Amino acid sequence: MRFYSVIILAIFFWSSASATDTLEVQINLRSIQNNSIACTIKFPTLKKGKLRVVFPTYVPGSFNEIYPGNLIQNLVGIIDSNHVVSPVKTNLNSFEFENPNGINTIKYNAKLSWKEDISKHGIFPQLGTTLKDENYFLLNFGAILPFIEGKEKLPIKITIEKEAVYNGFSPLFKISSVTDIEIYFAKNYLQLIDNPILFSTKAEIVFRAGSTRFHCLSNAYGNLSEQAILKTLKPVCEGVVKFCKTLSVKDYYFFILLVDSGEILESANEENYGAVQHSASSVMVLKNYSDPYKIQSEIQQTASHELFHLFEPLNLKTDATSKLNVKAKLPTEHLWLFEGVTEYFSLLMQWREDLITQAEFIQEMRNKISLMQFFEPFSLTEKSSESILTGNETYYRNFYYKGCIAAMMLDLRLLELSQGQLNLQELLLRFKKSMNENYVVKDEELISELIKISSFNELHEFFSKHISGTEPFDFNKYLGLVGWAYEPLKEDTAKLYIDASFRYEKGSKNVYVTNINIDQLGLEEGDVLLKINRKKVYKDNVEELMEKVSSINSGKNVMFSVLRKGKEVKLSGKPLIVNKSQRNVIKVEKRPTPEKRFYRNTYRSGQLNTGKPYRMLN
Ligand SMILES: [Zn+2]
Repeated sequence: MRFYSVIILAIFFWSSASATDTLEVQINLRSIQNNSIACTIKFPTLKKGKLRVVFPTYVPGSFNEIYPGNLIQNLVGIIDSNHVVSPVKTNLNSFEFENPNGINTIKYNAKLSWKEDISKHGIFPQLGTTLKDENYFLLNFGAILPFIEGKEKLPIKITIEKEAVYNGFSPLFKISSVTDIEIYFAKNYLQLIDNPILFSTKAEIVFRAGSTRFHCLSNAYGNLSEQAILKTLKPVCEGVVKFCKTLSVKDYYFFILLVDSGEILESANEENYGAVQHSASSVMVLKNYSDPYKIQSEIQQTASHELFHLFEPLNLKTDATSKLNVKAKLPTEHLWLFEGVTEYFSLLMQWREDLITQAEFIQEMRNKISLMQFFEPFSLTEKSSESILTGNETYYRNFYYKGCIAAMMLDLRLLELSQGQLNLQELLLRFKKSMNENYVVKDEELISELIKISSFNELHEFFSKHISGTEPFDFNKYLGLVGWAYEPLKEDTAKLYIDASFRYEKGSKNVYVTNINIDQLGLEEGDVLLKINRKKVYKDNVEELMEKVSSINSGKNVMFSVLRKGKEVKLSGKPLIVNKSQRNVIKVEKRPTPEKRFYRNTYRSGQLNTGKPYRMLN
């Protein structure tokens, strides 16, 4: 479904608020010079004290410090529309006027962050501002607008002048839109910096999943059609809504920016690309790969992860995290949980909904185990509390690894303790139910609260050993429950025809070859695997078929059939005989015991055993 921006004239909105209790922001996107835009803020004059103009050090959705103050030039105060006064810059993000007398306007130029050195301002592309050749314009207000100290709670009216071809896309309320001016409304400063705007010439994609309406706008649709983006996003949204039962937002906005190299200054290397989650939107900045499957896969992973942040308590709601303070962040012990469980649920949902295969799910977990081992041993609780301190950022990344693995082990432990009657998803659903709307759990009580709701005191040991403590997981102890076996190092000799990933696409049921490292057959990125030695390839047998032909004892010649540009192509070749050594192997037992099969099915489906516990069935 598509629709174009509608012109809404809601002048009545302003009849109740006089100009004196509102901030008025004016931004002119039509006169961009030297990579900077002109901004004006009008506000009620201060009666006494100093007038402080402060840019945020923290913005919603990120734990990184930012210095938008470094992007600001020629900031002045204005009295009676002609008398100009200059402030003193008191620190990287603050400007101060000694005497507020009569100042009711400030003016300045803000540099666009994408083209400025990120080491100076610290603003990740997804939190920044850019203009791409009259094509799109991303506006994150935290990167260009300050608050006036003491006026943070006032409503803000934002008037943006732009070229007529652009349409603004934002969760912010649009008061009016005429050809070259759009006017938005924010309840207060915090709401303003939590809601970006993307100006683009493209049309918005809208669809519904559960009771939430999803909106999506991409800057370019890169190498993807709108239809392809819709096909990628919709099943993810449906899967998340199903998993979480319901989402707390009525409308949710995806900003998808596909960028070519050079669009962002090189100092912002690709590690800084990614996504940021706001209360009603997420902004993704992704590489515009020439291979559409790669973009689709990135969008799928990113959208799923970001949406799971809406699942309480994964939306960072403890007393430490729920109050956003733009000047300082309070440490929380549970960053590993907020990021790790989010990442884990995101993968688990995709597997359950067939958006990824079991082999892809296991591969992700193996990668995470390998990555987390570089940092071991460390305490998740301790590193969570410390990671917002400058210099500890590396650990944040690790919450996606060890935090995710810890979540998986916790999930399996819960299944075991409850004999299939409780899993981590159900525990968090119960937790959510137990919280009244405005109740905020104390940071140090979150874990004990969760354990209490689970009714399994045994979990105290799990948390003290592996979460606050540094004891490594005995993976076999946990994975064994579902008949998966872990080996830290596996060495064997194999006939290698191909080393690549196989990506399953639910819509078409195709298995694509992607990320090719070694190829002895003449495969191409994006080939669809049809047959291996006359056996038809399905999502569930591809790994097994590959294993068979790679076995050093296999005497058969190999013949691959692939679909390439609509035509079936037959490929064969001579294998490389290699000594393969693989780290952190997870193998799925072929013939699990009935008990393991029971747990495996429960784990895979998420369908809890609501009757009697498993052992009673024996
Ligand atoms: Zn996240």
